[in-house]
Amino acid sequence: MKFIGWMYDIAREQSPSDDDLDALCAKSLASGYNVLGLYLEHRFEYPSAPWAVAPGALSGRVVRALQDKYVARGLRIIPFLNTLGHMEGFVRAVGGGHLSEGPRVGAAQLCPLHPETVPFVQGLIRDALAVFDDEWLHIGGDETQQLGQCPRCAARVAEIGKAGLYGEYYGALTRWVLEQGRRPCLWGDMLLEHPEAMDHLPRETVIFDWQYEQRPHDTSARFREAGFDVVCCPSIQTYNSGWCYLEPTQRYIDEHREDALALRAEGVLVTTWEFAYFQDYPSTLPIVYAAGRRLAQGAAWEDAIRAEGGESYARLAEILGETLPQTCDFLRPPTWRQLRDRFVMRQNPFALWQVWRDDACGPVGDRILTLCEEADNQGPRENLVGGALELHAVAVHFVRRVEEANRAWESARYSDVIESLQQAEQTLLRLQAGLSATASAGGSPVDPHRLERLCSKVRVAAQRVAEFAEQPPVSGYRPTFEVLVHDSWLPEDQAAWRAGMIV
Ligand SMILES: [Zn+2]
Repeated sequence: MKFIGWMYDIAREQSPSDDDLDALCAKSLASGYNVLGLYLEHRFEYPSAPWAVAPGALSGRVVRALQDKYVARGLRIIPFLNTLGHMEGFVRAVGGGHLSEGPRVGAAQLCPLHPETVPFVQGLIRDALAVFDDEWLHIGGDETQQLGQCPRCAARVAEIGKAGLYGEYYGALTRWVLEQGRRPCLWGDMLLEHPEAMDHLPRETVIFDWQYEQRPHDTSARFREAGFDVVCCPSIQTYNSGWCYLEPTQRYIDEHREDALALRAEGVLVTTWEFAYFQDYPSTLPIVYAAGRRLAQGAAWEDAIRAEGGESYARLAEILGETLPQTCDFLRPPTWRQLRDRFVMRQNPFALWQVWRDDACGPVGDRILTLCEEADNQGPRENLVGGALELHAVAVHFVRRVEEANRAWESARYSDVIESLQQAEQTLLRLQAGLSATASAGGSPVDPHRLERLCSKVRVAAQRVAEFAEQPPVSGYRPTFEVLVHDSWLPEDQAAWRAGMIV
């Protein structure tokens, strides 16, 4: 294979130091990769969009230094921009809102027909071209689920369909990139959803076919048959898990390698995503590098992980990535990061207690705590997976303290409720030092604030209990504990239409 790469997701709250990036390049080369992708979105110092550049964005100076040092040694450094979907950091900054296709929860898209959109994204691309030397330039194009939402786009979609709207936009943009002397690259998902859009694209476009839960053979074959060069893209399964689903990660990477070879694709890009919400890059980088050894040299997975992370890391990866997710359906692949979703992402940690209390308070919780202790006893662990272990242990202990509070509430032992909630907050605070250290080391700067938000929800619940206990109704009436800890709770709202919904 010509192309053996992996992609680092700077866009999702990462601010790697110059030394971190230098080490990433050196380790990538040493493990067998010949491409490092830098996924940027809004986190690059775009001279054309200074209003979007927040602290910690990647600078052109750093990229130039990396290229000066590593390109001659055989490492390509390719920028991955986005230019239509996944423009959240732009449209949610003052200066970019007017380009939004429309309001949406989650991913946010530009309006492809707004007269300022093309000049704006051409500015971003020019900024990248001025810094990155590689022939290839990835301009994104994935998950544009808002196609046709605004009135102008809706009218155009009525005429030529979503495939036409997408195809016209990216047909013009890819040709423009070619005119700048570079080869445009696009993600493949929207082309699979709207195949007629392919008719608009010059065949010099390289399609990155990302398939994270199946092998890419059939989809990549469609692109090959249509005349495109293809890169097959599996993922390290971290964004969808509590830490990493190890077996699916390995299986999908192996399948992508097989299919890439069979289809004479350019190669494989191992993607990594979303190292935030109480996850960090250092704990899984040995697996990324092990994938490089696997793809480049055919090394056995176990040997490759041991070579990259050490003996104790390999054992810990087995416990965290294989054994622990099998303890219950809640954590088992392919469930979708339920633990971090309920515990962290919803910004109310009682959501985890609502759905996981039976597991956490019973034998499953005991088993998880035993596994975490076993992992702690595995000898020197270089602290790489300490955060992930602590997250699981804290999750179990937290739910148990909340369940104690719930039982005390049901029997009107108000001071016991408050004490259990105080213990629950102290349990959460066990994560504080690790999250702060990760932030200081270039990981998510938001996560320490997320932890404070979780703690504040516990303090608010304790305050509600204290206020209720001052004048409890003589009848003995109390709302359920689920209602009391809900973000929408209000005193005397007995029917609790809002607060009765799951957090
Ligand atoms: Zn529009």
